[in-house]
Amino acid sequence: MTDVIPVMRPWFDTRDEWAVLKTLRSGWVAQGPQVAAFEQEFADAVGAAHAVALTSATAALELALLLHDVGPGDEVVVPSLSFIATANAVRRVGATVVFADVEPEFGLVTAKTVLDRVTPRTAAVIAVHQAGVPLDIEPITAALTVRGIPLIEDAACAAGSWYVDRPVGHAAHLAAWSFHPRKILTTGEGGMLTMQDGDLATRARRLREHGSTLSASDRHRLPSHARERYVEPGFNLRMTDLQAALGRSQLERLPAVVTERREMAEWYAANLKGVAGVHLVHDPPWGRTNVQSLWLRVDSAAGVDREDVMSRLFDKGIGTRRGVMAAHLEPAYSTTPHEPLPVSEWLTSSTLILPLFHGLHRETVDRICDELLNALGACDPTGGCLGC
Ligand SMILES: *Cc1c(COP(=O)(O)O)cnc(C)c1O
Repeated sequence: MTDVIPVMRPWFDTRDEWAVLKTLRSGWVAQGPQVAAFEQEFADAVGAAHAVALTSATAALELALLLHDVGPGDEVVVPSLSFIATANAVRRVGATVVFADVEPEFGLVTAKTVLDRVTPRTAAVIAVHQAGVPLDIEPITAALTVRGIPLIEDAACAAGSWYVDRPVGHAAHLAAWSFHPRKILTTGEGGMLTMQDGDLATRARRLREHGSTLSASDRHRLPSHARERYVEPGFNLRMTDLQAALGRSQLERLPAVVTERREMAEWYAANLKGVAGVHLVHDPPWGRTNVQSLWLRVDSAAGVDREDVMSRLFDKGIGTRRGVMAAHLEPAYSTTPHEPLPVSEWLTSSTLILPLFHGLHRETVDRICDELLNALGACDPTGGCLGC
């Protein structure tokens, strides 16, 4: 069998290669000047006052909870419909996961679905810009601010997405970002925590580096009698300069990447327009998606099962993935009590993700759509269909 078309493929060019090579040749490969520059450029790109580079978005979510001293006895509201890291971060700090449902159109939490789960023990809420589709963040922020509950934005997938006329993350209290290769800006592994508050940034930098008052790179630049103090127990969550050099190069290209992905999504939309029972992810009224994942909902109206569609496409050499998972259905959360989550269960079982990556040709998208329509039985053999 020929190679299966993947759902995602990272895009590296010679500028990326050169950036990494230059850093390697500089002799400084651990957290240093490249990380500092990446943090500044990323903060500027998303409209944050501060950015703290870390090893992953998962680490960023955990750190965000720790910055609010969330721990045992506290509840944290998270959507079940998310990559499992969102819930895991809560468990890792010893707090209790409380699953919220989502609205049906975009699979996002709303002020209502979140408030439905808030109790006097709620210590924080993590809201997810799922698959790059921006949350309608203002009503959520407003509802939580009056109750004094900190909001953490899981923006792991959302670099380059927009809320109204500003980048996602603009003025966010705390937002966590991922640079895993499955996302559209990658450093291999890596993450960022952005924030507005300078004191939170200072503490985040300290916790990232063993609780030290001085970073290792600062110590190298200062007179040898400069001495660091370890003021609280911390971690090692440092990003390397090799990763940051790659991240800076990728960040420069982010607007072009988003433009390209949105154009490719239009090709799919044009081909699938008007097909009964098929619903393609699109921009919400309040913003613009970076199309991190091109997901599709297959309604029962289409008369076909999602698993069938996936395996038929695979037989034709087209890779797909199930849509966003629902954490409460995984064994790790089988003993976590939860209220009914009907929309999350419906979306996780009826959605799939289609290929979208740099270098994907229009003809390939046409072929994927033809095979999809065949798999759905949506082909009209009397004509007017896309090539069966
Ligand atoms: C990918 C992802 C994460 C985890 O990101 P890592 O950088 O791999 O830790 C967290 N939340 C969401 C919504 C994600 O998609």
